Amino acid sequence: MNKENNQELGFQTRAIHVGNEPDAATGAIENSIYMANSFVLPYDPSTMNWSASEANIYTRNGGVNQGFLEKKIANLEGGEDCVVLASGVAALSALFFTELKKGDHVIFSNVTYIATYRIFHELWTKKWGIETSIVDTTDLEAVKAAIKPNTKLIHFETFGNPTNCVTDMAAIVKLAHEKGLLVSVDNTFASPYNVRPLEFGVDFVVESLTKYINGHGDSMGGAIIGPKEEMDKVRYQAQVNIGGCISPFNAWLIARGATTFPLRMEVHNKNAQAVAEWLDRQPCVSFVAYAGLKNFKGHEIAEKETKHGYGAVLCFGLKGEHDLYNRVVTHLNIFTSAVSLGNAGSLIVFLGEDDERMYLYPQEFHNGFYRVAIGIEDTEDLINDLKQAFIAEGLEVQD
Ligand SMILES: *Cc1c(COP(=O)(O)O)cnc(C)c1O
Repeated sequence: MNKENNQELGFQTRAIHVGNEPDAATGAIENSIYMANSFVLPYDPSTMNWSASEANIYTRNGGVNQGFLEKKIANLEGGEDCVVLASGVAALSALFFTELKKGDHVIFSNVTYIATYRIFHELWTKKWGIETSIVDTTDLEAVKAAIKPNTKLIHFETFGNPTNCVTDMAAIVKLAHEKGLLVSVDNTFASPYNVRPLEFGVDFVVESLTKYINGHGDSMGGAIIGPKEEMDKVRYQAQVNIGGCISPFNAWLIARGATTFPLRMEVHNKNAQAVAEWLDRQPCVSFVAYAGLKNFKGHEIAEKETKHGYGAVLCFGLKGEHDLYNRVVTHLNIFTSAVSLGNAGSLIVFLGEDDERMYLYPQEFHNGFYRVAIGIEDTEDLINDLKQAFIAEGLEVQD
């Protein structure tokens, strides 16, 4: 059976089987790790394209474990092809490097991963003559108004990191394609278990595999998913010539983690929904930003876009001063104060009022807030951990 392009089998079945065939040479039923950085050349190598990635030549062009992982991720996102790279940021910059050139204009969401902001707001604008506009992409009229004759790309996230803002993908795609623009979506926060942006017509999906798909907090990777022709361009231009290739070991770890990704995601979704609803009832909490809450702006669009749940990152504020946030964290026993998301264990980060991008977030964030990445522990333990930390600081708590 050719499982590679199969979309008929269930998502969990595909997460296990695509990109993992028994090895013909040894009979091993699980993938081995091919650490070799070079491969035997054909009889007459003199006519070869040294920048090709089809045949195994050299691991920066593509390798065995990279190939296994690319098949799996392309299938789970429902795309024709996928390129995996060393990190989510390597994937973002490889895509932008390939698709953009001097003089192009990019519209990007006011709520994105920090590196996306840096690339589009500082680095590429100053160094390489890419024009950019920061736009609230949840506001269709604002996006429309920002389009210029040289606009090439609209980029945003499902859901926005960190505020969880929800952009109406179908509406943006319609607008963009009418004007001949490309749309790229960073699907890290939602993950392909919940949201598959290609089904809404976006041109490219980018994803940090470091997060939910690996799921165990022990390796980094990134992926770009899109049409084969464009992915070949990404390989040729960015992977081979800029060189952000993923190590075979990390590709293997991520492919291994991905086999249980749908199961873990189900628990992430459920836990985050329960914690968000509990936080929303607390008198000491000033706001909760989570797309699964009915009172959250964008909930209705998110409900249309998601197949299962709303991911497991949420933000909330406390009614209190700056250092209260730091003190509450010291009482937590299960949550760890650390960045990242999608790990089995829950993480929490305090972002203070002087964060450089605070002006881009809604008003309620401006006094500082926590970004919480809910893990897959028992739900009650997570709520109880927050509860006892609030109580330890004399905050009012309800069930
Ligand atoms: C973490 C993250 C990235 C970057 O991924 P790395 O693997 O850390 O490079 C990109 N986008 C979003 C939305 C993220 O959360």
